[in-house]
Amino acid sequence: MSEALSHTTFNVKQIRKDFPILKRKVNGKPLIYFDNAATSQTPQQVIDTIVDYYSNYNANIHRGVHALSQEATDAYEQARIKIQKHFNAAKAYEIIFTSGTTHGINLVANGFSSLLKKGDEIIVSALEHHSNIVPWQMLCESTGAVLKVIPMNTNGDLVLSEFDKLLNQNTKLVFVNHISNALGTINPIETIIEKAHKVGAAVLVDGAQSCPHIKPDVQALDVDFYVCSAHKICGPTGIGMLYGKEEWLKKLPPYQGGGEMIAEVSFEKTTYADLPHKFEAGTPNVCGGIAFGAAIDYMNSIGFDAIVQYEHELLVYATKQLQNIEGLTIYGTSEHKTSVISFNVGNIHPYDIGTILDKMGIAVRTGHHCAQPIMDFYKIPGTIRASFMFYNTKEEIDIFISALKKAILMLS
Ligand SMILES: *Cc1c(COP(=O)(O)O)cnc(C)c1O
Repeated sequence: MSEALSHTTFNVKQIRKDFPILKRKVNGKPLIYFDNAATSQTPQQVIDTIVDYYSNYNANIHRGVHALSQEATDAYEQARIKIQKHFNAAKAYEIIFTSGTTHGINLVANGFSSLLKKGDEIIVSALEHHSNIVPWQMLCESTGAVLKVIPMNTNGDLVLSEFDKLLNQNTKLVFVNHISNALGTINPIETIIEKAHKVGAAVLVDGAQSCPHIKPDVQALDVDFYVCSAHKICGPTGIGMLYGKEEWLKKLPPYQGGGEMIAEVSFEKTTYADLPHKFEAGTPNVCGGIAFGAAIDYMNSIGFDAIVQYEHELLVYATKQLQNIEGLTIYGTSEHKTSVISFNVGNIHPYDIGTILDKMGIAVRTGHHCAQPIMDFYKIPGTIRASFMFYNTKEEIDIFISALKKAILMLS
């Protein structure tokens, strides 16, 4: 789309006013926040939702006959419906509130421990976050199932021809992230899901990185499970969601026992509540769920098409400038990637550059980004990662580039 159109449809100056934190200074310099892949910032609309909840209708839900409890229950269930519509789930009860992506993955892994047997196979990708590796290793240990890995190439793309070779009648589960948090690669999940279903395997997609940038349609994808965290999509921490197809959620046993997840309890036998409550033991994060809904509303008010287009402009703009810096290597050069740039400069330790950038008010991430196998692949200890959201600007990228050049001079 043309520059002119993108500028008329995307008013970043106006959008930035929604984020109070973007006005603050760090070390005397205006904050430049490029650590969005770790967590996103929170707009006033979501902050107001949280304040409104605790100021006006804080109550436990699904239990009380009193007005506050009913208002809170209604708002919480409305949020579930908002999330259902956003992801295009067929049923609201296919949306399970969790504490985040990690919780959702563990819930599914735990459920499968009763469905797998020795010799069954689980496939993960080489691009996974630790939270999408460790639960499966634990599951394999407890069931005798075998973990296999789809390899990656130097661009940071998965090698799908190798995936074909790993698939067979023993494959029961495939787990892959939609977008790599370390490299920004957008994985071809449509193809992966289709191939996995041909051998009868279920697929879980980790959408932690995709939800802020892409609006997934879980029915069109025909994905079995999809997980994400609200804090990466302008919502609060401590809340997320698991989408599961009804047939799968019915098959999986509950994850935790407690209040709210039961139909009837006696010491002889307890029967479980219907979906989604079967997986929501105890008092949930009521305020978080409602604020998650507000974050979804906020993102949709800007519009995902506009977000994707603008962030791509930022990615192209920053990549070009970084490529001009001598000795700088970008890791993850897939043609299909979001606004995440992982890089190193010569032999300078990422941490040293990160520390100097922080002195100049610029927040980037340094380290292995919870994806050590990717760092091992490139034989590096870590990278510097700049990740952009729709509230970042080209002016910020200019400041970042000149600060980076200063840091390199100081360190070499
Ligand atoms: C952030 C992230 C996670 C973990 O999310 P939590 O909110 O910490 O549970 C998992 N996978 C990917 C790809 C992520 O980016």
